[in-house]
Amino acid sequence: MSLFENTLKQINEAAEIMNLEEDILTILSHPKRIIQVSLPIRMDDGKVKVFDGFRVQHNDVAGPFKGGIRYHQQVDMEEVKALATWMTMKCSVVGIPLGGGKGGIIVDPKTLSTRELEQLTRRYINRVQHNIGPDMDVPAPDVNTNGQIMAWMTDEYMKLGNINRRGVVTGKPLECGGSEGRAAATSQGGSIVWEEIAKEKGIKPGETRVVIQGFGNAGSHMARIMGEQGYKIVGVSDSKGGVYCEEGLDAPCVLKCKVEKGTVIECESQCGSCKQITNEELITADCDILVLAALENQVTEENAANVKAKYIIELANGPVTPEADKILEKNDVLVIPDILANAGGVTVSYFELVQNEAGYYWSADKVQRRLKPIMIKAYQRVSEMMQEYKCSMRQAAFISAMDRLSVMLKTRGFE
Ligand code: GLU
Repeated sequence: MSLFENTLKQINEAAEIMNLEEDILTILSHPKRIIQVSLPIRMDDGKVKVFDGFRVQHNDVAGPFKGGIRYHQQVDMEEVKALATWMTMKCSVVGIPLGGGKGGIIVDPKTLSTRELEQLTRRYINRVQHNIGPDMDVPAPDVNTNGQIMAWMTDEYMKLGNINRRGVVTGKPLECGGSEGRAAATSQGGSIVWEEIAKEKGIKPGETRVVIQGFGNAGSHMARIMGEQGYKIVGVSDSKGGVYCEEGLDAPCVLKCKVEKGTVIECESQCGSCKQITNEELITADCDILVLAALENQVTEENAANVKAKYIIELANGPVTPEADKILEKNDVLVIPDILANAGGVTVSYFELVQNEAGYYWSADKVQRRLKPIMIKAYQRVSEMMQEYKCSMRQAAFISAMDRLSVMLKTRGFE
């Protein structure tokens, strides 16, 4: 089953529970525009190589399409369609005036030199230049893309159009018009939502063990934030594997060690008394909270029954499959769904766009003060929907999103 089919399953399920009109469901089941581009670049060995790139613009009834661009060898159109659809839902869950889009290039960026990476990035913008812009579609970072790549994208767009509109891309470095707090925003948002749940359930950080899968932007910041709050981080991993430490590990030490050694598995004895484990073992390791901050389809019908955590926080997009959802629900594992848990990232992207357009920049403190109420309100609305419809938190999040989208679609008219 493709990732997009999983997404449709989630949408259909929620639509049925809330009794969504069929016309609205049909519209939300189809991306508005799909763009596919060829990206030839001259490699360092002198030969030309062509890469494939995509941009899917799912829905813009709430505002310009919005969403990251992923560089990964396993990117495909169905995946990008799924991710774009989730972006529409995510922006609607937090109630920001943006739609949903996503992009990707089939490439393992670790195999490219810096020059090749820059060429590829600039070529992508060249190909989609007429389809993006601060009023139309605003890309951002995703898996394997970062501030430097966003800076190249912004520069290329502004050069090609001879215009100064840096709000075309978010997730930029501060010196290129980025926002304070953007780098940590995905984790910050997840942590704000989690704190609300922890308060309700009376969970104490000191007695709570956390495992984090993925140590990229989202996972590493989450390890830092939860470590600072007193949670016991007992396991972390990256694409090469993981470490598990019964007694807890020193999160700042792992952050430093990962930068120095390139992978967390080398931090085995440096940051705690840990043993190496595989990513698969990490998912079913002994803990209270499992934070999924890597890729999609990590908890599946094969391993869901063996998950020991009582709570899953989805910082990645789509890490739990619909089949796994059912098993987890039966086992009383609460899944805090991606479109709510990781929406802090796009929320601060929205702040970045607003600051760029206004040419007036906010302090880190102001970003925090504005992010928190948005996340709390989004969670409370989802929580209300959960009670009203007696459904899972994921279903409630989709209901919350589609309820808003449906009102907008009907008011504006879509024919
Ligand atoms: N790629 C991130 C996500 O999946 C951020 C998107 C954005 O900031 O536009 O939410």
